[in-house]
Amino acid sequence: MTHDLANPTEAHAMLREMVRAWVEEHLEPQALEHDRAERFNLDLMRSLGDLGLLGITADEDHGGAGLDAVAACIVHEELSASDPGFALAYLAHSMLFVNNLSVNGNEAQRERILPKVCSGEWIGAMAMSEPDAGTDVLGLGTTAVQNDDGSWVLNGRKMWITNGTLDEDGTPADVVWVYARTGTDDRGRVQLSTFLVEAGMPGYSVGQKIMDKTGMRASNTAELVFEDCLVPAENLVGDVCGSLVHMMGNLELERLTLAAMSLGIARRALVEMNRYAGEREAFGRPIRDFGQIQRHVGESWAKYRAMRAYIYDTAASLAIGDAGQRLDSDGVKLFASTAAKEIADAAMQVMGGYGYVGEYVVERLWRDAKLLEIGGGTVESHQKNITRDLIAMADAIRR
Ligand SMILES: Cc1cc2nc3c(=O)[nH]c(=O)nc-3n(C[C@H](O)[C@H](O)[C@H](O)COP(=O)(O)OP(=O)(O)OC[C@H]3O[C@@H](n4cnc5c(N)ncnc54)[C@H](O)[C@@H]3O)c2cc1C
Repeated sequence: MTHDLANPTEAHAMLREMVRAWVEEHLEPQALEHDRAERFNLDLMRSLGDLGLLGITADEDHGGAGLDAVAACIVHEELSASDPGFALAYLAHSMLFVNNLSVNGNEAQRERILPKVCSGEWIGAMAMSEPDAGTDVLGLGTTAVQNDDGSWVLNGRKMWITNGTLDEDGTPADVVWVYARTGTDDRGRVQLSTFLVEAGMPGYSVGQKIMDKTGMRASNTAELVFEDCLVPAENLVGDVCGSLVHMMGNLELERLTLAAMSLGIARRALVEMNRYAGEREAFGRPIRDFGQIQRHVGESWAKYRAMRAYIYDTAASLAIGDAGQRLDSDGVKLFASTAAKEIADAAMQVMGGYGYVGEYVVERLWRDAKLLEIGGGTVESHQKNITRDLIAMADAIRR
């Protein structure tokens, strides 16, 4: 049997088959409707808890599946091949919240919260971005000040938070992983700490559900408000002013799985393009006989195969919880996000007018693909990081 990077073990292949069957039965039938209505399918998300997917990488002692980065990529690829918006909500919950807590929370936090988020009883989110600070993370303005009794008071606003609201009525996420400023070091650099903010804590609310997004409309995006929000001492994650390292570590898995989402989009666009090119006739021949159509199909195939190899190769060596793999987690996202956008665009072009309407799927993929060049780090930030890392890691080029 030849080695398959994307299904390196039988367990990985079985996981893929299981998710693919679930997607066909449950996700695909609702995808177009939820995109159109800009509605998040909360019940369907919760049901993934029964399959063990909400805590895919989380520790098994607390309800997780304890699987690796390859498994995480498989799930994101499969969900995204049908409904990238839903996949993004899944990523925000299972990677940005659940994995983060599993790796960086203390035992008491993990014991209390992981079973709830792994089962789907609670839905989580991660709040880093703000109205005035995105790429420039250290420019964030939300503050946390400690009271004499050890509790914390948070003030500020977070922007673009996936799962920040669970519905149209402003019901907040059950639990949010929030980064806030807690000081500066002796060289004047901003220091960040992490807090677990839970629904019902005074001063935590949804500012607005952000409507009219270009794509990813089946996921909810919200502005969150923290107004003298009182957070108990035990909800601080890690050390005071110690967040930067765990933030960077989780970003690596985030970028890898966002790249896997791009792969799902690319694969589906290619399936649709390939089928259509054989079925559609013009001038008495299938359009796949035309050289310009062949260029779209051929280049899309090669890009798809290249992204698949780079993503699963990176996943195979990404040890969850260890930082230091940014060169390739930025690399896969940089390459895959733009490749997916280009492949979705090629698919739409091949499909002509039909490609431009919702029923034929690719217009939704085309809109959703664009987000992956922005969210979880813009392509410009990946270019910057890679160039910076290659100063210290020039050997990586010749390995
Ligand atoms: C649908 C959606 C969901 C999201 N979900 C979440 C979430 O769950 N949690 C969360 O915390 N955030 C989330 N985000 C926010 C996302 O991560 C940010 O939008 C992204 O990091 C970019 O930040 P920004 O929008 O503030 O743009 P800016 O950082 O203001 O960037 C604007 C432009 O300037 C460029 N730029 C900035 N700095 C540099 C530089 N040094 N060199 C070159 N170019 C530069 C950028 O590349 C970009 O082109 C989401 C965003 C969207 C749209």
